[in-house]
Amino acid sequence: MDSPAAPRGDYPVLGRDVDGHPLVYLDNAATTQTPAQVREAHDEFYRRYNANVHRGIHTLSHEASMAYERAHDRVAAFVGAAGREEIVFTKNTTEAINIVAHSLGETVLDEDATIVTTEMEHHASLVTWQQIAERTGAGIEFIRVTDNGHLDMDHARAVIDDSTALLSVVHVSNVLGTVNPVAELAALAHDHDASVLVDGAQSVPNRPVDVSALDADFLAFSGHKMAGPTGIGVLYGSAHLLEELPPFLFGGEMIQNVTLSESSWNELPWKFEAGTPPIAEGIALAAAVDYLEEIGMETIQAHENELAQYALERLEARPNVETYGPPPGVDRAGLVSFNVGDVHGHDLSSILNDRGIAVRAGDHCTQPLHDVLDVPGSVRASFYVYNTTAEIDRLLDAIEDAEPKRDAHVRENYHDRIVD
Ligand code: PMP
Repeated sequence: MDSPAAPRGDYPVLGRDVDGHPLVYLDNAATTQTPAQVREAHDEFYRRYNANVHRGIHTLSHEASMAYERAHDRVAAFVGAAGREEIVFTKNTTEAINIVAHSLGETVLDEDATIVTTEMEHHASLVTWQQIAERTGAGIEFIRVTDNGHLDMDHARAVIDDSTALLSVVHVSNVLGTVNPVAELAALAHDHDASVLVDGAQSVPNRPVDVSALDADFLAFSGHKMAGPTGIGVLYGSAHLLEELPPFLFGGEMIQNVTLSESSWNELPWKFEAGTPPIAEGIALAAAVDYLEEIGMETIQAHENELAQYALERLEARPNVETYGPPPGVDRAGLVSFNVGDVHGHDLSSILNDRGIAVRAGDHCTQPLHDVLDVPGSVRASFYVYNTTAEIDRLLDAIEDAEPKRDAHVRENYHDRIVD
């Protein structure tokens, strides 16, 4: 299988060279490339109807408002939400999680409550819950990760109990590629009247995600990992919970009535979108949703799984390569993390960069998970709709070359560029 799931011509960046080598972009779990259709929607907004939303009755403002509101409808349908009232546009996944954390911190989290999360969370969630636990006095429990990269469900059953106020779980691990049994975990949490937040940053871009099927009360994800622009993320929240929760940010747009002594809040979802929102980005995100649905989310899931299995099997066949996460044959998202002998991940990624191959090295914002794996970091190759097995072959060839070359390699100038 060497054909991409989407026309590579939609992505001019894929045709560029890096230091004389054709680019192989395998850093999609960090950020995906943006197709022409999404860039066009973004550009069209600025070319034709750039104006602030909800404020003016002039034509441009009306058109901008309509497009921005329709973008909420589009995203709502994409994840199976009831309607736009359940879709809050944020800056990214991190902000979406922080909104929920802040609002729960003011309502249900206190010394008697426990937050249950997992050892495989991204810092976006882990650090946020750590901080909210500290500020509110709530307890925090981490569901363990097993040796084969899954959540320990016995441990989950032991730690989710009547004190649990919130279960926060990553749907797909950005390091292990594991697809967590969210619906099963959500059922456990709901049996104890806890709310469930799902970090969908690595799942919504890559597979069909439906909030009812997951039984999620909240779902957070980012536009820039799903062929959309940066600067936009999404918080899905079930309407009855968003109604109850206090807003995180205050200001214009989110109010209904203001006097000198008090204010009342706008209807959903605007209550959670204070100030001028990411208008062009929201409209472009809707174009990204159109684009992905045209390919088909099942097709994308199958393509990614196939690429991941292809890479995983070949990496595992090498004597000095250690991979992390579920073994070959188990459904996983389109990413593989690994280490090669004692080559430092940053060294390996800079050697790969010399051949035009973009991967990521470091702890991938999951330091506690790397502590569990007992390695300081890993190298991650992650795939998207435009990647092919031929590109993975180039990665594998370059890895084979890497070990003997590392000592001779001059890296000083690369280290400054590396951000986890
Ligand atoms: N959660 C997971 C699982 C992620 O992979 C990421 C991005 N690496 C985030 C949260 C944070 O996303 P963002 O930086 O867009 O807020």
